[in-house]
Amino acid sequence: MTEMQDIDAIVIGSGIGGLVTATQLAAKGAKVLVLERYLIPGGSAGYFERQGYRFDVGASMIFGLGQNGTTNLLTRALSTVNVSQEAIADPVQIHYHLPQGLDLEVHRVYEKFLQNLIAHFRHEERGIRRFYDECQKVFKCLNSMDLLSLEEPRYLLRVFFQHPLACLGLVKYLPQNAGDFARRYIKDPQLLKFIDMECYCWSVVPSDMTPMINAGMVFSDRHYGGVNYPKGGVGQIAEKLVEGLEKAGGKILYQARVTKILTEKGKAVGVQLANGQVYRGKRIVSNATRWDTFEQLLPAETMPINEKKWQQNYQKSPSFLSLHIGVKESVLPAGTQCHHILLEDWENMTAVEGTIFVSIPTLLDPDLAPSGYHIIHAFTPHWIDDWEELSPSEYEAKKEEAAGRIIDRLEKIFPGLDAGLDYLEVGTPRTHRRFLGRQDGTYGPIPRRKLWGLLKMPFNRTAVPGLYCVGDSTFPGQGLNAVAFSGFACAHRIAVDLGF
Ligand SMILES: Cc1cc2nc3c(=O)[nH]c(=O)nc-3n(C[C@H](O)[C@H](O)[C@H](O)COP(=O)(O)OP(=O)(O)OC[C@H]3O[C@@H](n4cnc5c(N)ncnc54)[C@H](O)[C@@H]3O)c2cc1C
Repeated sequence: MTEMQDIDAIVIGSGIGGLVTATQLAAKGAKVLVLERYLIPGGSAGYFERQGYRFDVGASMIFGLGQNGTTNLLTRALSTVNVSQEAIADPVQIHYHLPQGLDLEVHRVYEKFLQNLIAHFRHEERGIRRFYDECQKVFKCLNSMDLLSLEEPRYLLRVFFQHPLACLGLVKYLPQNAGDFARRYIKDPQLLKFIDMECYCWSVVPSDMTPMINAGMVFSDRHYGGVNYPKGGVGQIAEKLVEGLEKAGGKILYQARVTKILTEKGKAVGVQLANGQVYRGKRIVSNATRWDTFEQLLPAETMPINEKKWQQNYQKSPSFLSLHIGVKESVLPAGTQCHHILLEDWENMTAVEGTIFVSIPTLLDPDLAPSGYHIIHAFTPHWIDDWEELSPSEYEAKKEEAAGRIIDRLEKIFPGLDAGLDYLEVGTPRTHRRFLGRQDGTYGPIPRRKLWGLLKMPFNRTAVPGLYCVGDSTFPGQGLNAVAFSGFACAHRIAVDLGF
């Protein structure tokens, strides 16, 4: 696209949700313009480089890069625009280091994982199998159909006639939470805590607030398509999508911060950038969070009633304190897995600095660090409020203290970590807010209280005609593969609306 005229869709933001929407539309022949405020694409799936290390800014545990079924949405999004991404299979999703000596690896092979868990809870073998088998049922339903817009009646009819049983199955699971099933089958309190952690580590809420659809997806796909690491780092996925977008005739502009969504007679018709430049398009898609979209890009006082209701049901999750570490390879014992979760006391699972998440992608792709070194990304929940109103020196001191506490705790699983440090950069909720453009640096929406599964999560259309939302504050929520689903759905709905 050389001329910026007659744009079919303007996408605000190049997170994975925005890029999947843009590439799907461009592949159908739509004229698409993506406007990204930062220097590179990817948002929370981006990267940065320091002293020979390439760090993922956020996500490192990647679903959706498998080869089979219909839920491998990243692979499918890339192939739609004739690009591909080499994926390195991870044999273990997570190595858990949990209270009361619950040390356990979630193996890629389903039965091996079950055996590992049953070894800790022999009396609950039946319950364990029933719970995870129920998750497999959800996944089988999802993995048998094309995942597109649930807001498009003809698509719904078509999938219903093609896969009636799968559809009825999903309708049953849609209003339920994983904890409802866990408590039905399992009684052991420690095992229920483990299931809470299994949910919390990606949904950031315990199992009774985690929708069964999402749990079914994560707890099964890890044994089907598996967790795979993109060769060259997670940032490659967004870079490849941009390559595909441009091949398909779409365009992306960087350092193009949208400050306003322009409306005429209540309909979204264009956007204005911080530098005053205006672009008009037939459809506007916001990949910014719903809070940013309806409080910043549109005047907060005109917020539609359904958005207010959404905010009553969902709140911003905390952000993270992130340690990006370069470390001598001698620190990591042979056989160390890529992803770890560390928690010493169940009471602290959801607390600030309670659970520590760790990813060491160089165990799968050594090229991300200089020879003889590894990268470690360790992160733990933190609220923005605790990082505001600090002088520069207070801010630096607070970062150093917090990093010290995390490293001390990680010494338990990686003895010698402190002594083996070669590089350390600490990101706070302020860093997440600034570089990811997300209000309060939030990881995304979490239910304020127990809700009916995914029923209250909004789809892509909004109450503002012509304006759509995509990404983790739309159905089905956070995670790269989830926002890719949202992108497929958004592009499908817009394509139908525009007649492509
Ligand atoms: C620390 C951390 C670890 C994570 N780990 C995992 C993991 O292991 N696996 C996993 O699947 N997921 C993980 N996630 C979650 C996952 O990264 C996100 O859910 C997903 O990347 C969100 O994608 P998105 O498309 O919704 O938006 P984002 O990634 O937030 O992208 C939005 C884009 O829009 C741009 N933008 C915003 N406002 C404007 C504006 N006004 N003008 C122009 N551009 C704008 C931003 O700069 C950004 O590029 C993690 C997230 C974090 C923070």
